[in-house]
Amino acid sequence: MHFENTLEFAQSLDKTDALNTYRQQFHYPQVQGKDVIYFTGNSLGLQPKNAQSYVDEVMRDWAALAVEGHFYAEKPWWDYHERLAAPLAKVVGAKTKEVSVMNTLTVNLHLLMVSFYRPTQKRFKILCEEKAFPSDQYMLQSQVRFHGFDTKEAIVEVKKRDGEHAWRTEDILAKIEELGDELALILIGGVNYYNGQVFDMQKITQAGKKTGAFVGWDLAHAVGNVALDLHDWNVDFAAWCSYKYMNSGPGNASGIYVHERYLDKKDIPRFEGWWGTKKDTRFLMKPEFEPMPNADAWQLSNAPILSVAPYLASLQLFEEVGMAKLLGKQKVLTAYLEFILNEVDKEVDSSFEIITPKERGCQLSVFLHGEGKPLFDYLMKQGVITDWREPNVIRLAPAPFYCSFEDMYRFGTILKEGILSK
Ligand SMILES: *Cc1c(COP(=O)(O)O)cnc(C)c1O
Repeated sequence: MHFENTLEFAQSLDKTDALNTYRQQFHYPQVQGKDVIYFTGNSLGLQPKNAQSYVDEVMRDWAALAVEGHFYAEKPWWDYHERLAAPLAKVVGAKTKEVSVMNTLTVNLHLLMVSFYRPTQKRFKILCEEKAFPSDQYMLQSQVRFHGFDTKEAIVEVKKRDGEHAWRTEDILAKIEELGDELALILIGGVNYYNGQVFDMQKITQAGKKTGAFVGWDLAHAVGNVALDLHDWNVDFAAWCSYKYMNSGPGNASGIYVHERYLDKKDIPRFEGWWGTKKDTRFLMKPEFEPMPNADAWQLSNAPILSVAPYLASLQLFEEVGMAKLLGKQKVLTAYLEFILNEVDKEVDSSFEIITPKERGCQLSVFLHGEGKPLFDYLMKQGVITDWREPNVIRLAPAPFYCSFEDMYRFGTILKEGILSK
């Protein structure tokens, strides 16, 4: 596609963007009385304006109905969380019964490990990417130790090649082959949080299943950001947080996916609680656990309705727009940002190196050679919110729901000023 680095051109793209009106459905922080340019939807998505009314509804029902709200609220609380499964299933490419919402991401990964990391003396190794998100590393290490294995032996990290910024699928596949029947589990972040790389989830899953291992994905940076087809890819399990591209609010509930072949199985190891038992007999308070015939079997406690409410509000927007349209805009928007970066690069002495490979969602991670933290601070003062990682990598995630083409153009001019005014 042909791009131009002008305000008129950026505005012309906004005019033809079918999602442009969705900008008005979000709250923006203000700097100098103006909406910020928000590049950190990969960390915490903006607040959808409809979130407030969903929370207010629960507060009103609680005041007016108290305990009766569990059954007689307009959206009864006892099965409130079930409303999220169908729209979420579309976002991750799953059947509705394979999806549930509960707890938080790291908690859910631990719970899923109970079911899907069952090491034996022969088959106990876990394959992951090097420098995975720290919480995932701690989770894996503590699980390995819990089962009495040595982390150095059990955790196998696939590395990037020297001088390269992205993992090669062929290296991952070769490692899977090499580990063969020692491989118990593959658990990788579907989209890497640092370089923004999208892994070939389908190929890696297929290769892992062939060795007899379980294959799971941490989709924290993938959900709402890339096309997912978990069921058809034959993925065993997955989990994600909702406060990044899903715009559900800080620290909000996580989603899980479990392939249907494990549902309604009584012999699968699992930590259980009363919200995982069959609905029709749940309140008979029987001693026997009868699993829900869906991913809700992994539920432990009654759901935190006040936190799930804004998640449901956000899902309404995803439902309205659909992933295909969202990803259609994202592709062009991210390509435009890349173009703008390359244009600015030509006009300044510093040089930019985009370390995100072409397999990407909306995030571009950029080495700003010759620049440092002062540039980041300058951008913040000018109302551009980005994410800075030492030594000098800036992560830019123009989420298609609320970022515009004009934002990309304006960012380019501010970035250039910031570098030239040093
Ligand atoms: C954001 C993120 C987390 C955060 O975990 P929480 O349990 O929600 O705090 C974990 N893993 C990855 C890969 C992430 O990107």
